Amino acid sequence: MTSGNRVLAIPGPTNMPDKVRMAMDRALEDHRAPDFPELVRPILADLKKVFRTESGEVVIFPASGTGGWEAAIANTLSPGDKVLAASFGQFSHLWIDLCQRFGLDVDVVEVPWGEGVPLAEYRRRLEADRAHAIKGVLVCHNETATGVTSDVAAVRRILDDLAHPALLYVDGVSSIASIDFQMDAWGVDLAVSGSQKGFMLPAGLAIVGVSQKALAAAESARLPRCFFDFGDMIRANREGYFPYTPATLLLHGLRASLDMLLAEGLENVYARHNRLAEGVRRAVAAWGLELCARAPEWYSDTVSAIMVPDGFDSAEVVRTAYERYRLSLGVGLSKVAGKVFRIGHLGWLNELMVIEALAGSEMAMRDVGLAVEPGSGVAAAEEFYRETAAATGMKQVA
Ligand SMILES: *Cc1c(COP(=O)(O)O)cnc(C)c1O
Repeated sequence: MTSGNRVLAIPGPTNMPDKVRMAMDRALEDHRAPDFPELVRPILADLKKVFRTESGEVVIFPASGTGGWEAAIANTLSPGDKVLAASFGQFSHLWIDLCQRFGLDVDVVEVPWGEGVPLAEYRRRLEADRAHAIKGVLVCHNETATGVTSDVAAVRRILDDLAHPALLYVDGVSSIASIDFQMDAWGVDLAVSGSQKGFMLPAGLAIVGVSQKALAAAESARLPRCFFDFGDMIRANREGYFPYTPATLLLHGLRASLDMLLAEGLENVYARHNRLAEGVRRAVAAWGLELCARAPEWYSDTVSAIMVPDGFDSAEVVRTAYERYRLSLGVGLSKVAGKVFRIGHLGWLNELMVIEALAGSEMAMRDVGLAVEPGSGVAAAEEFYRETAAATGMKQVA
């Protein structure tokens, strides 16, 4: 059946609002035109609001989030520098792999998948590092592979307690613009995001928040960089331009996306994600299944990784949902391949869009033989959304 919408319920790319799509449906333009800064400057100013930074800079590269990881590392570190990182999912693992390929000495803490940044172990290793050999501490704020959110503020408190000068690097690709993220308040030095998740755009922009401390570190950092050089970018941005051709259509899309996020209000955006996520969690409980995230402190409000019982293959659930119902769910990656499927619940989304994904998941799970009660997850989410609808004070009509 090919009539009707496809349902996209992966944790990025997310659903693109019509306003964003229409903002990008325009003729190409001259990125050296005298009025181009009128587009660029307000975008950079509004990105700072979303990253919650006043003292830092936010820069935009034509790249995916992975390019943002690379920019953060290449600008601020030197060959052989030591960084502390934890591996607890495919994305935290890949950032570590990038650091290793750049010749850094990565002190890796292996953490069971389903848990987040190991605060006690981070403290122990930082405390032992009296010589301050560790130059950077990496945190994957929201591990998209397992649906785990970590406590970035707590890592900042550890660094402050120990008066440890390491830079704090945060992967916020699947958190920034969706769940609480505070670059200044949490003392984040490098904050990496991308366009295709909370920003509701196609992939193609790496968006990186950079603190003044990180900019100072960039002056003596010796890893090579050219395309991702912060200095070139910030100098050109000051004039309202870019050091090379920017992705102009994506910038127009970003303008529309920032308008939507700021009109809704970031606190409301975070609350909406929390409420939609809670509906998914109620559904998972009603199905009698478990999340990969091992404890509520780690539950992610942007993605849920749902474990299928032993003897079942989660990839089959995902394939069936796609082939029979044109619903895209996220597959299990790497260590959790075949064990989890993921529902992305971030970006441009409301209750009924989540319920579509839950209904399709339920149908596909039953098709492959899982003993979930028909309608049970949908009913649990519906009731939660009904109970909490009035409290949001939001009318959907706009
Ligand atoms: C999506 C994602 C990335 C980067 O992905 P790209 O495909 O390069 O945009 C990095 N980290 C996390 C946590 C992600 O979810």
